[in-house]
Formats: sequence, structure tokens, C-alpha cells
Amino acid sequence: MKIAVLKEQASGERRVSASPETVKKFIGLGATVAVETGAGEYASISDADFAAAGASVGSRADVLGDADIIFGVQGPDPASLAGAKPGAMIAASLNPFGERARIDAYAAAGFQALALEFMPRITRAQSMDILSSQSNLAGYKAVIDGAAEYGKAFPMMMTAAGTVSAAKVFIMGVGVAGLQAIATARRLGAQVSATDVRSATKEQIQSLGAKPIFVENVAGIEGEGAGGYATEMSDEYKAAQAELVSSHIAKQDIVITTALIPGRPAPRLISDAQIASMKPGSVIVDLAVEQGGNVEGAVAGEIIVKHGVKIVGHRNVPSRLATDASALFARNLFNFFSAFWDKEAKAPVFPDDDEIVQGVRVTMGGKVVSERLLAS
Ligand code: NAD
Repeated sequence: MKIAVLKEQASGERRVSASPETVKKFIGLGATVAVETGAGEYASISDADFAAAGASVGSRADVLGDADIIFGVQGPDPASLAGAKPGAMIAASLNPFGERARIDAYAAAGFQALALEFMPRITRAQSMDILSSQSNLAGYKAVIDGAAEYGKAFPMMMTAAGTVSAAKVFIMGVGVAGLQAIATARRLGAQVSATDVRSATKEQIQSLGAKPIFVENVAGIEGEGAGGYATEMSDEYKAAQAELVSSHIAKQDIVITTALIPGRPAPRLISDAQIASMKPGSVIVDLAVEQGGNVEGAVAGEIIVKHGVKIVGHRNVPSRLATDASALFARNLFNFFSAFWDKEAKAPVFPDDDEIVQGVRVTMGGKVVSERLLAS
């Protein structure tokens, strides 16, 4: 099995899908690994580091030639895969809903495409879950980015010159990113509150030492929906949530929004009028900005100021921590492939009836095969 590790071509993408550690481990399974020149440059992994781990390093054409498995962080442009074997596997974060034409092109070219973000949220797949590993880092970085834009300190400080009061931080959406954002803001000494539509998150918020802010008069999602994800809420719930948020948000210094609904645009959580009610100098970080944004007026890739409030809309936040994000992404990929590795055949075997395989496999035999994608 020859594994090709591509240099990412998407603008602003700094991550890489393998690390010297995972290269060694794949070689230990009997695979060969070929890394495109410069693939790790922005994640602080040199070609020499990959070579020392046992990979060959070469041009895209060299790396793709005869490859059985192609690794990427983002789905490679089908036009850039000329020379790859039909039937080769592509394993990456493929954004299947957003980039459907690309998925169709993989199918037409005969590739078996594996969309890693479709990994089921089950215990067995936790170590393979790129959404968790990347969201966790994004949640941390959102707080750091917010703190960097904020003109005051986070912790309370009692000094000879006077007292600096603690920042009030409000986290909206308490999935993987939100939980890490709560923990990070607490570590920095802020007073933290948080909200979600899933009532199961209330205890998690409390256990991290933050205050839960919940709509009490209209039912939210008790427990969790399919796969633990949220779904679109009723108009009645949305109205109650907007009222609750309005009274709370005016007192906050930093707001981090992380709310997502799979396969749908991100829910709108903060209106322009609510931004206007905040104190000048406050900061909002919208982690959902690329999925349509939780915050009215947020612009992907920009930091804008509205009503004296900074709205931070960085794209691809995990890539802003490229070294750690790459190391975890690479381990997720290794954990996934090694779980299905046939030691005798020295190749992965993906049984059709396995829940994980059914989740991630989006194209095979010239067709789109993902039920989730076909149903959308
Ligand atoms: P996500 O990125 O899809 O969404 C982020 C958060 O936004 C979620 O908590 C969601 O409930 C919330 N949200 C959606 N609409 C909202 C609204 N209108 N207002 C406020 N909040 C809103 O979530 P995620 O981080 O991918 O986590 C989803 C679930 O998967 C969680 O239950 C998590 O615990 C679970 N999970 C399980 C595993 C596993 O078992 N392998 C791994 C990771 C996550």
C-alpha cells in the first residue's frame, strides 16, 4: 500500500494530514508513505523530518503515481489528481454538503472517497473523529483570539494602582468547541456563562465552573438528537432564546459563538440590535462564520467593528494552530486506518456493513454511495 500525503492547495490552509509519528506508524503496518515536497512547511514539519521518519519526499506527480491511498486535510481538487490510480482511496475532510460537485467528480474518476467529518459520533470512533480534535483546538483559539482583540484583561487583578475587574465571557453553543472555550476562558480568569439548546449540556457547563443560561419556558432538545447533534429549533423556542440572550448579552465583554446544525446554515443567534446593546470595546468571535455565521454582519476572514463592538470572523481556525491541529488530524487518520488494517494483507479492509465505513464512505464504484449525502 502506497500512501500519498498531499501538500494542501486551499488558500490559507496551513495543516498537513500526516506527521513524522504517523508516517512511522504506517510504515510499521507495512505501508510505504510518499509526502509531497513542502507539505508540512506551515505546520513546522520539514521535508527532512518526514524523510527521517521513513517517507519518500517528492513532487505531486511522484507522490500520486501508484498511490493506493491519498491523504489530505481538505479534499484535493479532482483536477490536481491526474495520474492517480482509479480506485484509489481519498481520505480527507471533504465538506460533502458544501462541495458536492467535487464529490461527484471523485465518483466519476473512480475514487473511493472517505469523508472524515462523517465519522459517526460513537465511542469506538472517538479517536478517529477529526471534528472533535479540530473543534477542540478551535474553541481554545477562539478565546485567545477574542482576548487578543479585547482592550482589557481577563482576570481580576488587585494592584496598588487599583482593581481590574474580571472579563465576562459568554459561550453560545456548548459542543466540543464550546466546552474547550469555557475551560480556556475560565483558566484565563474570566467569569463565564454559556448556553445551548441541548439540555444535556447544562451539567457540563456547571462542571466546568460556568453559569448555564437556558431557555426554561420552552422545551429545547432534551438529551440529544441524532448522533448527539442539534436540530433546527421551533419559532417559539427561537423567540424565547432571543429574549433571554438580549438581556444577558448587554452585560458581556466577550461572546464566543460556536452553534452549528449539520447540513444546514448555522443558526442566527445574535442580531444587529443585540450587538448595539453591548458595551463599546466588547468582542464577539463567530466560529460558525464560514457556515453562514451565528452573528448578524459577521464577515468570514475579517475583523469588523459594528456599534463599537469587534466581530472576529477568522476562517479555518484550527489551521491557526497548524502544528497541533496537524498532529491530531494525522493521529485521527492513523487511528481510523489502523482499526481496519489487515495485518496479513498489509492493507485496509473496509467491511460494507460496518457503521463507521457506512458513515465515511461517500463514493465507490463510480457512484455516490453515502446515504446521508443522497438524502440531502
Ligand atoms: P456542533 O459543532 O454540531 O454544534 C455546536 C453546538 O451548537 C452543539 O452543542 C449544538 O447543540 C449547539 N447549537 C446548535 N444550535 C444552537 C442554537 N440555536 N443555540 C445554541 N446552541 C446551538 O457540535 P459538536 O461539537 O460536533 O458536538 C455535537 C455532539 O456530538 C455533542 O453532543 C458531543 O458531545 C457529541 N460528540 C460525541 C463524540 C463521540 O461520542 N464520538 C465525539 C464528539 C462529540
